[in-house]
Amino acid sequence: MTDRDDDPSVADRADEPPATARSDGRSTADRPDDPLLCVRGLKKHYPITEGVLRREVGRVRAVDGISFDVYPGETFGIVGESGCGKSTAATTLLGLEAPTDGEVLFDGVDVSAASKTERKRFRRRAQMIFQDPTTSFDPRMSVGESVAEPLRIHGMRDRDRRRRIAQNLLERVGLSADDVDRYPHEFSGGQKQRIGLARALVLNPDLIVADEPVSALDVSIQAEILALMRRLQEEFDLAVVFISHNLGVVREVCDRVAVMYLGEIVEVGPTERLFADPQHPYTRALLSSIPTPDPRKRGRGIELTGDVPSPSDPPSGCRFHTRCPEIVQPDGYEFEQTGWRRVMDLRAKLNRGEVDRESALELAAAHSAATGGAAATGGTGGTDAGAASDGTRATEASTREARAAIRRAFDLPAALTDERADAVLSEALGLIVDGDSGGAAALLADEFSTPCERREPRPTGVADGWSAACHLLDGSRRAEGAEPVTGRED
Ligand code: SF4
Repeated sequence: MTDRDDDPSVADRADEPPATARSDGRSTADRPDDPLLCVRGLKKHYPITEGVLRREVGRVRAVDGISFDVYPGETFGIVGESGCGKSTAATTLLGLEAPTDGEVLFDGVDVSAASKTERKRFRRRAQMIFQDPTTSFDPRMSVGESVAEPLRIHGMRDRDRRRRIAQNLLERVGLSADDVDRYPHEFSGGQKQRIGLARALVLNPDLIVADEPVSALDVSIQAEILALMRRLQEEFDLAVVFISHNLGVVREVCDRVAVMYLGEIVEVGPTERLFADPQHPYTRALLSSIPTPDPRKRGRGIELTGDVPSPSDPPSGCRFHTRCPEIVQPDGYEFEQTGWRRVMDLRAKLNRGEVDRESALELAAAHSAATGGAAATGGTGGTDAGAASDGTRATEASTREARAAIRRAFDLPAALTDERADAVLSEALGLIVDGDSGGAAALLADEFSTPCERREPRPTGVADGWSAACHLLDGSRRAEGAEPVTGRED
C-alpha cells in the first residue's frame, strides 16, 4: 500500500496529531489525481430460495454494477429513495458483506484479492458511521471503552493509553474528557452520534462511510453534527462517502454526488452543477421534491407515477421507464407527454395482469360513482343500453361508455392529442371491455414500443466528471472529449 502503511503501529497512528487542516474547499478541478477509493462494477445480489433444498429461484439485485471514484479529502454523496441500494452499496464496499461481483480498490489495492495484512489495514483506514447511534453501542460498555474498542482489537494493549486517546477524541467531538466513564444511555441522540464519530476516528482513518448519519436526529441537532463532521473532515483530511435520501443535506455537504435508482447509478457529477442542471429525469424528479421556502416555487414537484419496482424483477431497458415522466415516445406518434405516460402506466398494469374486464369495469364504476358520473357496466347491461331498442347500437354505446369510464379511472385523457394514437388506445380499451386483456397488452406493446423499455441506456459524459445514463442524452449532448466517469459495467 502507501507510505501511510509504513507507519510503525496502529498506536502511533492513533496518537498522531491530525493532518494539517484543509482550507481550500477542494473542488473537482483541484482534487488529487489518484482516487483513494475505486469502485468498479460492484454487485450485491441476494438469492431467493425455495424448498427444503433452498433451490435458488431468483435474486434480489440490491446493487447491480455500480462504479465510482472517491478522492482523498472529498465528500462523495450517494442519494436515492429508500430501497435503491445505497446502504447495501456502503456495507459491500467496506467488505462488511461479500460482493457478488466487481472490484473495490483502496489506495490502488484490490481489497477482495488483498492479503490478510492488507485487508486488516483497509479495515483500519476505512470506517463506518451508522444511522442509528442508539443501537450502534454496547450498553454494557462505557463510552470510553466503546470509543477505544477498535484500538484494542487492532492490538493496542496499554489500557491507560487507550483511555487517554478516547478522552482526547471525546473532547474533539465536543464532549468532555470526563464522559469517558459514562454509559451510552446517559447521552442524547446527537451526543451519541458525536461518540460514534469519535469511535470512527480513533484509528485515524482516511475514509469514512456515513450511512444516513443525521436522519435519526432532530433537525436542530442535524446542523450541529454536519458542522462537526465538516470540521473533523478538514482536521483529519478525510474522504467521506455520505449516504442520504435527503437532497438538501447532500447539497450542503457533498463535493460530488451519485444518484441511485434500483441498484444502479443513473447520474454522477459535481454537486452544484448537477443540482443546478440535472441531466437525468430521475434526478430532476428528486430535486423537484426538495421543499423550498420560496412560495413562488412551491408545488412544482414532478409527480412520479407507479410503484418502485422490485429489485428482484427490475424492468427491462432503462429501469426507470415504468415511472419516468419523460419516457421517450414511440416512433411515428406525437403524444402530449402526460398522456403518453398514462398510456405506459396502463401498459405496465396490463403486463402485470392487474387489468381485466371485471376489475376495469369495477374501477370505472367506482370512479364514476365517486365523481357523480354515469356508471359503466360494459356489455349490454348499461342503463341506456337496456332502454335502447336497437341492441347493437346499445352495445356500442355501452362499450363506448365503458371505454370512457376506464380512461377516467386510469387518468387517461378523454382523447390523446395524436388521433392515430387515440384510435389504437380506443381499440385496446375495447379489447379490455371484451375481456381480452392479453390482446390489449399485445396491441399496445406492438404500437407503442419505446427504446426506454428495449435498451439499457449507457452512461453519457455531459461534462468533465459528470455523466448520466438516459436515452435522451444518446449521442446528442456528449461534451467533446468527455468520457463517462461511471456506470454499469458490461
Ligand atoms: S432512458 Fe427513457 S425512461 Fe430512462 S430516464 Fe431516460 S427518458 Fe426516462
